[in-house]
Amino acid sequence: LRQGLDKTRRGFVNQLKALIGQGPLNADAVESIETLLLQADVGIEATDYVIETLQTKLRQEALPPEAAIAYLKQILRDLLDKPFESNYSSEFLPESNQLNIWLLVGVNGVGKTTTIGKLAHMSQSSGYKCLIAAGDTFRAAAVEQVKVWGQRSGIEVIANPGQNTDPAAVVFDAISAARSRETELLLVDTAGRLQNKKNLMDELSKIRRIIDKQASTAQIESLLVLDATLGQNGLRQAQVFAEAAKLSGVILTKLDGTAKGGVALAVVQQLGLPIRFIGAGEGIEDLRPFSSYEFVEALLS
Ligand code: GDP
Repeated sequence: LRQGLDKTRRGFVNQLKALIGQGPLNADAVESIETLLLQADVGIEATDYVIETLQTKLRQEALPPEAAIAYLKQILRDLLDKPFESNYSSEFLPESNQLNIWLLVGVNGVGKTTTIGKLAHMSQSSGYKCLIAAGDTFRAAAVEQVKVWGQRSGIEVIANPGQNTDPAAVVFDAISAARSRETELLLVDTAGRLQNKKNLMDELSKIRRIIDKQASTAQIESLLVLDATLGQNGLRQAQVFAEAAKLSGVILTKLDGTAKGGVALAVVQQLGLPIRFIGAGEGIEDLRPFSSYEFVEALLS
């Protein structure tokens, strides 16, 4: 993770340390911290929150450099943990001995299929029985791609032959297969073409309705995959998915390719959703459960 956040950290921490310097944190330094946060794509709302909290503290006591950084870390961690306040769970795992259905949504190219491959590998390695539904039936290449990922970890992919079949039908078949095989984790890939937003959202709503019918006997998660390199722009796309897919969490990908790792904070602040996993590379192992502690340490040390 430290390596993944290298680009963000190099810009951020060195400048921060230079800014804070030797003396107690002063108003000029706070202003520069604000600029740094905005540059790392933390976003206006989350930056305002961080700066206000920092200023309140400074009115009460002088903060020497080490204490200032420690306090800043604390603010960032609190912000990232906010969505967990009522329902804290530090580790996000499928619940064993029951069916978990994880629906992955997001715009084309953000890394959905790759993430499904990584998640399948991760859960298979942890001993969960896993199955993949190839719900992006719009692109033949997407079905092939997800099959390749399935093969890498020996996980079966449920797909309908032929193009333009109904993705909801694929999901329906996949749920039946998951039930009869006592699958613990069913990962559902979906389409992400935004050219025809309404069709896509109708399609996702239909898939979601089929999945919801399992709600009494399955654990359902709807995870938005966001590309960190898109920063604030990626976040705007998120709103579109929130309603149709009833999002419950976020997976942030491509943190290795950006100096905008701070977008994680904007995601939490603006969407009010927990980040569940982060992707920092193209390999099958390059996915980690999200931990605010680890993230902030990687960002600020
Ligand atoms: P999808 O259209 O959302 O299914 O996106 P894909 O899974 O096909 O990924 C699009 C591209 O992003 C591929 O070239 C992936 O290798 C790449 N990718 C996905 N996740 C990551 C990541 O965490 N880091 C990097 N550097 N590349 C990634």
